[in-house]
Amino acid sequence: MKEFRADMHCHTTCSDGSKTPEEVIQLALQIGLSGLSITDHDTIEAYTQAIPLAEKLGLEIVSGVEFSSMLSDVPVHILGYSFDLKHPVLNDLCQKHILRRTERNRMMLAALQKNGFKISEEELFELATKHPGKHSIGRPHIALLMMQKGYVKSIQDAFKKYLGEGCSCYIRGESISVEETIDAIHQAKGLAVIAHPHLINHIPTLRKLMQMNFDGLEGYYSKFPPEVQNQWVEAAQKKEWLITGGSDFHGDVKPNTPLGCSWIQKETFSILKDRLKDNCAHGNI
Ligand code: AMP
Ligand code: ZN
Ligand code: FE
Ligand code: FE
Repeated sequence: MKEFRADMHCHTTCSDGSKTPEEVIQLALQIGLSGLSITDHDTIEAYTQAIPLAEKLGLEIVSGVEFSSMLSDVPVHILGYSFDLKHPVLNDLCQKHILRRTERNRMMLAALQKNGFKISEEELFELATKHPGKHSIGRPHIALLMMQKGYVKSIQDAFKKYLGEGCSCYIRGESISVEETIDAIHQAKGLAVIAHPHLINHIPTLRKLMQMNFDGLEGYYSKFPPEVQNQWVEAAQKKEWLITGGSDFHGDVKPNTPLGCSWIQKETFSILKDRLKDNCAHGNI
């Protein structure tokens, strides 16, 4: 019998991934995954397509999202799982992020303009919305446009020189707090999980996060070596938190991170799936 593996962290064209929700689901089945959660940045748009398709093709799916938040001045990504997709509080938070991103993108384009790079809002919108639905537009889309226009050699180059934190065209944008984000996920009956703590290089922030009202952390992430992962797995075990895991697959945008390179087993997936079933006993997820 094949081993049960579920990748609980990936992105689609609804945010900054290069594959549509349908393509991600098909790929998941091709590589032998049994479970999946699509965790687009600040949007749950993928689920409109993903749920009926996953059901039809026999892939188990759990609602998911990756929210951008801020603790003091440090950006923190928070994963939400098993929430009610129709809950107004969670949908309102996604809408708030769309407005935050529109304003922030406008400011970043203005900063780029000052550096002699001409990218219009229309061009950005057109590139990011090739596929139907509402979209979460961000720095990777701007970086791709910069590359297409010959302003930089690669997406990586755009981040390194202009768009990365601390660079001249980086704009933090409106802050949505960790507390507000956890609260919205909880109101929508979901679980709030610290995303990739391995990438947070600020020890005081990590200390504070570990004391907050989270339900879990992403212990297995992408291709981190076991000794780094173990540190996070042990920290979660001490707190009796849920330990999730996933690849953070983005498709061609991040070619060295394949779908399924990190996963969770059936036991953890079942906790998330059962919670979802309880939340949505009266309708579709
Ligand atoms: P944003 O949500 O607009 O702040 O963009 C953040 C996203 O940009 C991350 O989730 C990654 O997908 C991507 N990203 C961040 N840093 C880099 C980098 N150095 N190179 C390529 N992509 C990056
Ligand atoms: Zn991303
Ligand atoms: Fe992230
Ligand atoms: Fe991610």
